[in-house]
Amino acid sequence: MLLTSFPRVPLAHLPTRLEFLPRLSEHLGGPRVWVKRDDCTGLATGGNKTRKLEFSMGEALQTGADTIITVGAVQSNHVRQTAAAACKLGMKCEVLLEHRVAEPSELYRNSGNVLLDRIFGANLREYAKGTDFDAAMDEIADEIRADGGTPYIVPGGASNPVGALGYVGCGEELLQQCREQEIQFDHLVTATGSAGTHAGLAVGLRGNGSDLPILGIGVNAPQDVQEERVYNLACETAGLVGKPGCVSRDDIIADCNYIGPGYGEPTDAMNEAVLMLARFEGLLFDPVYSGKALAGMIDYIRKGRFAKDSDIVFLHTGGAAGLFAYADNLALT
Ligand SMILES: *Cc1c(COP(=O)(O)O)cnc(C)c1O
Repeated sequence: MLLTSFPRVPLAHLPTRLEFLPRLSEHLGGPRVWVKRDDCTGLATGGNKTRKLEFSMGEALQTGADTIITVGAVQSNHVRQTAAAACKLGMKCEVLLEHRVAEPSELYRNSGNVLLDRIFGANLREYAKGTDFDAAMDEIADEIRADGGTPYIVPGGASNPVGALGYVGCGEELLQQCREQEIQFDHLVTATGSAGTHAGLAVGLRGNGSDLPILGIGVNAPQDVQEERVYNLACETAGLVGKPGCVSRDDIIADCNYIGPGYGEPTDAMNEAVLMLARFEGLLFDPVYSGKALAGMIDYIRKGRFAKDSDIVFLHTGGAAGLFAYADNLALT
């Protein structure tokens, strides 16, 4: 275990289950497809940020913080999980929401994750796309200090080395499940956005001697930018856990061909993937991250890019709360 020395608060239901998807696998006629259920981490409808927040909030508590400041897109799953964690730990939560999607609908602005943020009583402030959020968060932190409070900033997606520790832990958990359940995976597929999930997994696997290939499906940035972001964070995280150099640059792969018109903008392939997983397996995926990552995985399977007699595990990072915000944009064919 690489993680025992870090401050951590229990927030997630762990280990998350590893489930085989027989009907989807048969329908696609390719490899056996499994899903790691990080959509079921238990906090406020779950998702991947909860594992990261165990470490971010652990550090916040250690520093004596009483107010969390964080940032995300309007329909951020990260913000929703952070707002819930702050409530559970008796802290206030200041949220900066970035308007990243063009012409947002009424539902996009008020339903889904935003509704849940409001239920958790987070203070929501809205900003234009491209705002300098580091500066804006520092300014709010100064205001809180001036009022006698103690702020703690969780970066977007909790994607710094401390947050990425959550996915170092997920990598270790997956290796343990493979041993216990006697499964050998040939590929791990995950959505990759603010990079902490992908980077943490890379460190958790390589730092424990596993060479399981990781395919990130990008949802935001172009390939070179995304891979560099993941690699840099993986290097920092590897240093933090005492495994410097365990991840190499050419080991980080992000396929960014499934983004469509942009972050949070629906695509036909995402729409098809969300309906396919719902109707073959009774599972819910989201329009912004896990649905686009699934669309990538399905395309790889259809193109024969995974061997037929292989086992693929898809990390389900959650996000179904966002479906409600996209109700007007999904084609329910
Ligand atoms: C944040 C998020 C991701 C991406 O994880 P990163 O660590 O930001 O790369 C994937 N899926 C869902 C549902 C998310 O909320």
